[in-house]
Amino acid sequence: MQRVSTLEAWRAYAKAQRAHGRVIGLVPTMGALHAGHASLFEAARAKGDLVLATIFVNPRQFNDANDLRAYPRTPELDQRAALEHGVDCLVEPTLEEMWPDYPNDTATTVVVRGVGDILEGAGRPGHFDGVASVVAKLFALTGECRAYFGEKDYQQIAVIRQMVRDLALDVEVVSCPIVRDADGLALSSRNARLSDDARTRATAFSRALQSAQSAPATASTLRTMMRETLENAGIDVAYADVVDPVTLVSSKDDEAGERRALLAGVVGGVRLIDNAPVVVRARRG
Ligand code: AMP
Repeated sequence: MQRVSTLEAWRAYAKAQRAHGRVIGLVPTMGALHAGHASLFEAARAKGDLVLATIFVNPRQFNDANDLRAYPRTPELDQRAALEHGVDCLVEPTLEEMWPDYPNDTATTVVVRGVGDILEGAGRPGHFDGVASVVAKLFALTGECRAYFGEKDYQQIAVIRQMVRDLALDVEVVSCPIVRDADGLALSSRNARLSDDARTRATAFSRALQSAQSAPATASTLRTMMRETLENAGIDVAYADVVDPVTLVSSKDDEAGERRALLAGVVGGVRLIDNAPVVVRARRG
């Protein structure tokens, strides 16, 4: 496995690999790698791509300084995991190179309006500006590629697809299914910060989604059901919504069809998100 830390070496490596006819499968991560990240490496490998994984804890996407401070960092374990899961090139850029102006504001920010303003965007001001800005830079450094993202961060994929479309970036966005623990909890680097009690209560996210999936109803009935499941587990709910799977606009009760249920809430001081496809029925009469 090749390891790269400078932007210059990263760009040169990607260019050389493309010149050899390889398609680059870019997998952006913030490290603390787990089986969810590994599924993205494997998805890229299964397509025959050259797997280029990045690890960068991007401070610009954290709206909460404590969350940034507490974010897990496990560089040695990450290197081993990347190697084991067939990563061809592991890129770990420095903060100084990625954001030379940090902690001062970087003058250039990519803002994705609309889909980036709602849900996570509303609850975490500036979060998607940080995400879109860093992902635009990862795309610029990598060049033409396929980029793999997990549906765990469903809204993030919608924001990135919008950015790729609007800026005509030479990137094919590939979305990959959520990897869960045996008890249903979606894997997340932040799960490491859950106490045993909070970890048990956090399973309410997947339980809420499962019950919404198994009992098609109107959008507002599903919202109420899911919120109750979370609240009963002592979760401080940020949102429990049922939305259009592309625009992420809240569904109305006179609509029927395939939608996405999106949940966010704080449990034991840790903010978690989860989502799943659901079917909504139209209200009668
Ligand atoms: P992160 O390191 O949390 O920024 O995540 C890096 C990538 O891994 C993102 O595309 C995430 O959506 C994806 N990811 C994180 N957790 C999971 C999971 N449980 N299943 C699938 N993909 C995931």
